[in-house]
Amino acid sequence: MTPAQTAGDLRVAFDRGITKPLSWRLAQLKAMRRMLTERSAEFEDALLADLGKNPTESQIAELGFVVGEIDHMVRHLRRWLRPKRVSVPGALLPAGASIVREPVGLVLVIAPWNYPVQLLLAPAVGAIAAGNAVVLKPSELAPATSAAMARLIPEYLDRRAVAVVEGGVPETTELLAQRWDHIFYTGNGRVGRIVAAAAVENLTPVTLELGGKSPVYVDDTVDLAAAAARIAWGKFMNAGQTCVAPDYVLATPAVAARLATALAAAVTTLYGDDPAASPDYGRIVDDRQFQRLAALLDAGTTVTGGTYDAASRYLAPTVIVDVPRDAPVMREEIFGPILPIVAVDGPDDAIRYIASGDKPLALYVFSESAKIRRRFLTETSSGAVGFGVPAAHLAVAGLPFGGVGESGMGAYHGERSLQTFSHEKAVLTKSLKPDTLRLIYPPFTEAKDKFARGLLRKLG
Ligand code: NAD
Repeated sequence: MTPAQTAGDLRVAFDRGITKPLSWRLAQLKAMRRMLTERSAEFEDALLADLGKNPTESQIAELGFVVGEIDHMVRHLRRWLRPKRVSVPGALLPAGASIVREPVGLVLVIAPWNYPVQLLLAPAVGAIAAGNAVVLKPSELAPATSAAMARLIPEYLDRRAVAVVEGGVPETTELLAQRWDHIFYTGNGRVGRIVAAAAVENLTPVTLELGGKSPVYVDDTVDLAAAAARIAWGKFMNAGQTCVAPDYVLATPAVAARLATALAAAVTTLYGDDPAASPDYGRIVDDRQFQRLAALLDAGTTVTGGTYDAASRYLAPTVIVDVPRDAPVMREEIFGPILPIVAVDGPDDAIRYIASGDKPLALYVFSESAKIRRRFLTETSSGAVGFGVPAAHLAVAGLPFGGVGESGMGAYHGERSLQTFSHEKAVLTKSLKPDTLRLIYPPFTEAKDKFARGLLRKLG
């Protein structure tokens, strides 16, 4: 079946109303949960093959993450779907007003390769919970995971309304040429623009979950060893191929020197003296990404790492100090295990530097000073802010997850996912009697004019 035919079939299923009942939505979410638990070994093997991802890390950041998202959704869905009453201005009374969440229809989810389970299925949880039919397009760069999705999803979920379309650019291009009611894309900004341009054709709303350089600011008020442990964990997980990974660190030269030593020690604690031999350390996804990253190593002074093996696409966890602001590694999102530390004069300089670039997906501040934290919060813009911890905000279901500006538009997770994949329909109910509105019907008189001016004040 072609991607276009799949989309057509799912459109018919949606139009027949099979995805709308709450019972269908809950059954699908529970089936997805069963798939992730009963067949976790197959997904873990696929993630190991695609990214050298350790099975424990796969549980934490991929399978377990989606299970948590499903459980949260299942627990709250009935309540979140209840019409939400809103107040009616006095001048319109008697009347009742409410917001009703209705499914948008047919949804396309396009996922990247770096968290190929989480970033395909977490959006699907929201799309299904909202009562939509959904086509899932996994990344061709994580082929084992893509194949596992294509094999297992039809086995567990309702094939009439949930489909997987595998493939690369030609298949995605064909999908994008169809009419969708929402397109949810995670990946880089270049393709994000292609997706947005295709969506314009049918005025389809899009969510773009993109990337960028997420900065870290560290000052001398914190325990640097503890901060280094957190930063190294967030940076080197999945070999740095995490959209919310710390991209680079800003610190004064004195802090940078001490932090670099602490980071080197943290890497050893996490992955031993030889990370190449650690079963917990991942690999770069493909040769193209590997070559791109290897070319970025030539900057500043390497404190730890800097070594690599092209054949196994191993790139050591690397920390570099004295990195000039115009070094290649500071010009693009790194998206790999290289952590440059750039010297700044202090918070003013750091804030100016961050604010002069694209708005990042996340910003991390390690400072015990409430004043410094507040300054970063109010004087910079980013998708999220983490004080004292990188990346973990995305595990808080109550927080919307998404970017701003170059790091994306729209958000999801928890109730925000339901909102993303629903149309919030405004409903006003007013009985025909008493007909209070007749006071504003033409023909207009002086008395009505007086009344109208008063009414407008009341409405405003
Ligand atoms: P990728 O190469 O797997 O691409 C993502 C998807 O786009 C794939 O499904 C692919 O088939 C499709 N695609 C690629 N080229 C296309 C084209 N020309 N036309 C249509 N579709 C096309 O993944 P990637 O973009 O390399 O992912 C890495 C980027 O994603 C990084 O910038 C990272 O920061 C970002 N990211 C963001 C998030 C987030 O949640 N905000 C999460 C993960 C990754």
